[in-house]
Amino acid sequence: MEFDDYRGVWVFIEEKDGHIAPVSLELLGAGRRLADKRGAELAGVVIGDQVGTLADTVFEYGADVVYLYDDPIFKHYRTETFMKALLACTQKYKPEIILYGATSTGKDLASAVATDLPTGLTADTTILDVEEDTGLLLASRPAFGGNIMATILCKKYRPQMATVRPKVMKALPPESGRRGRLIAESIPLREDEVRTKVLDIVKDTVKHVRIDEADVIVAGGKGLGSPGGFQLIHQLAGVLGAAVGGSRDVVEAGWIEHHHQVGQTGVTVTPKIYFAIGISGAIQHLVGMQNSGLIIAINKDPEAAIFQACHYGIVGDAFEIVPMLIEQFNDV
Ligand code: FAD
Repeated sequence: MEFDDYRGVWVFIEEKDGHIAPVSLELLGAGRRLADKRGAELAGVVIGDQVGTLADTVFEYGADVVYLYDDPIFKHYRTETFMKALLACTQKYKPEIILYGATSTGKDLASAVATDLPTGLTADTTILDVEEDTGLLLASRPAFGGNIMATILCKKYRPQMATVRPKVMKALPPESGRRGRLIAESIPLREDEVRTKVLDIVKDTVKHVRIDEADVIVAGGKGLGSPGGFQLIHQLAGVLGAAVGGSRDVVEAGWIEHHHQVGQTGVTVTPKIYFAIGISGAIQHLVGMQNSGLIIAINKDPEAAIFQACHYGIVGDAFEIVPMLIEQFNDV
């Protein structure tokens, strides 16, 4: 593999309902820094149906180039179609680095592309850097239950790829009117050749703040006792405009859906404020929330492990404390 053929930093631009996911804008900020260090161009890859207008936003947030795949076949995210487009683009233009948000779409697409290229993929990165002269991507992520930071290198293959956690990189302030090169691309793919079909989209009827993008999360655990007790978590989240999180045990008990689960086998979150209420603080939970800005724990057991991981701890009964908090915040 001739490394000199590979130039530039790319960001996969994730789009939903006509809007760019915040993590993609954050990655354009991070990608700009890497591209400048390498003296290379930053590109955004936009794939979707009627998504041409998003290119302007991608330029305003720092890209020099936008590769655009705009076709009804990309109306809904499907691994197969998006992977084919990104693979074709990668093989044609040979980027040195590709970044994806560590969202369910980003993780799915990145691993599919990595398998087919083939190349390496560092998942769930929180720190990104690049060696100025060699172009080697230094992608770091917590490992061994958050006890060490591992820097993972892809020495033998190009492009180098990483998924990056939402809310850890900073988007650049948008520069109104900033433009670059728009390159429209297509792939020869017919709908009848695609093995996966989207039959229906069932939208979540409850309007809730997305857990991986929330500034404030109120998370509850088995200490709430029952689905009825867990309603306190929803009430507190409601008055704070926060997202609701849960431990694996409450998800397994069916008190809340899996996409609210925080931890090793759930979502990794980094909100400004994280309330852990009736959560014991098992390591599998901690790895998903320990990088939050401010952690406030409420637990009736003074020996609970969560008190080792929090900034503020309240030893007491959630059923007494949470209603008081709801009352106080309601009055603000
Ligand atoms: P418990 O451990 O039962 O804790 C309940 C807490 O509530 C206790 O500390 C208790 O003192 C307190 N409490 C009780 N009553 C009250 C009250 N009235 N007021 C205040 N406090 C009260 N877990 C995750 O969360 N996320 C994961 O992604 C995850 N992945 C896992 C992966 C693997 C491979 C394994 C083996 C486990 C995983 N787990 C995960 C499970 C994890 O080990 C714990 O079992 C789980 O986090 C415990 O959930 P909990 O804190 O809600 O319940």
